[in-house]
Amino acid sequence: MKRVLKCVRCGKEYPINVPRYLCDCGGLLDVKIVKEDSDDFSHIKETWKKRRCSNKPVDESGVWRFRELVYDFDESEIVTFPEGKTNLYELPKNILDVKALFAKHEGENPTGSFKDRGMTIGISFAKKLGYKMVICASTGNTSASLAAYAAKAGLKAVVFIPDGKIAFGKLSQALAYGAKTLQIKGDFDDAMNAVREIASKHKIYLLNSLNPIRLEGQKTIMIHTLEQLNWEIPDWFVLPGGNLGNTTAFGKALYELKKFGIIEKVPRLAVIQAENANPFYSAYKNGFEKFEPVKAETIATAIRIGNPVNYEKAKRSIEFTNGVVEEVSDEEIMNAKAVLDRSGTGCEPASAASLAGAIKLRKKGVIKKNDKVVILLTGNILKDPGATTDYHLGKLHYGGSLQNAPEKIENSKEKIEEKIKEILGE
Ligand SMILES: *Cc1c(COP(=O)(O)O)cnc(C)c1O
Ligand SMILES: [Zn+2]
Repeated sequence: MKRVLKCVRCGKEYPINVPRYLCDCGGLLDVKIVKEDSDDFSHIKETWKKRRCSNKPVDESGVWRFRELVYDFDESEIVTFPEGKTNLYELPKNILDVKALFAKHEGENPTGSFKDRGMTIGISFAKKLGYKMVICASTGNTSASLAAYAAKAGLKAVVFIPDGKIAFGKLSQALAYGAKTLQIKGDFDDAMNAVREIASKHKIYLLNSLNPIRLEGQKTIMIHTLEQLNWEIPDWFVLPGGNLGNTTAFGKALYELKKFGIIEKVPRLAVIQAENANPFYSAYKNGFEKFEPVKAETIATAIRIGNPVNYEKAKRSIEFTNGVVEEVSDEEIMNAKAVLDRSGTGCEPASAASLAGAIKLRKKGVIKKNDKVVILLTGNILKDPGATTDYHLGKLHYGGSLQNAPEKIENSKEKIEEKIKEILGE
């Protein structure tokens, strides 16, 4: 495979091994993969499957097992835990009235979110290019992932996080893995501007989702899911949208799989945003005529993003897959999370936006009764214990029948006996 960076706006191409995040014209860059005569994809599905029997980390990894569509590193250059060995669960029928509902659980990655799939290629790249330091701005999960992979690779890591607006599980990871953590006054978008500027001045590798390399790793969420479905293409793939990195990566994965003859049809993407962090939804509503950043606010911190960097590329994914964009309220998000958590398949708030969105789209009749639907769960339930306990303790201004607050009980044999009988239903 031959790879170059290509501007999505003007089409100008740049070599892939010279670091660059934007085109001279200001447009976003994309990794363009060109098939060469020696590339043969006629048995690629078998090759990918066979690697699962190997105990080599690069074969076990749910990213590098699909390396033909990720990057052609030498094995020794790859920094991997290995990541991406995540499950696809079939969810109970009562959750959504469709033919089949699956959850792809990316919270099962080494640092608890899908960000690891992008970070393994990003950090491998930083190392190969001779960088000693990596940096990102993050609402939390990117910094947790960057910190862990930098520690593994022996690189210095700096993360910029928004002041006071970050879930506890994520912050604790960045600190524990040893990243220098800088809390900047302002929101995610302010933090993002700060790192862009600093990375352009120093020899520091920038690993935000602006970085087109990371998205090549995130494509494997889609590839892996389709493999787990025995390559029977679902009707819908529903995912939360923040910076729109996954939206971009999934459209690109599907485009390439189709172009290389690995699949014949593509699922429709449904991207779900939080009501008060919904610039992509608003743009979709006006036919992508115009895009306006917003001041973002939502309990789902991972998608509390008002000016998504990947807007232009994400738009392309919606057009290519005949996709839709929907918005949901925080209440809908937290109630959907309660449903997922109660099924045993827990997740963090942003992840539950996908189920909340699927429920809404089903109600509207966009998703049909006979459809096969995959929802993406992006992060682990332990990432944001604050949001979960606030919900169950009734500290939010909404709740539902699944709220489950702890109950105080006297330390007396009789009282305990009585209570247990009540729970047993005796
Ligand atoms: C990063 C992140 C998102 C947002 O994904 P994008 O690709 O930026 O749209 C959603 N959920 C979780 C848990 C995340 O960590
Ligand atoms: Zn350009």
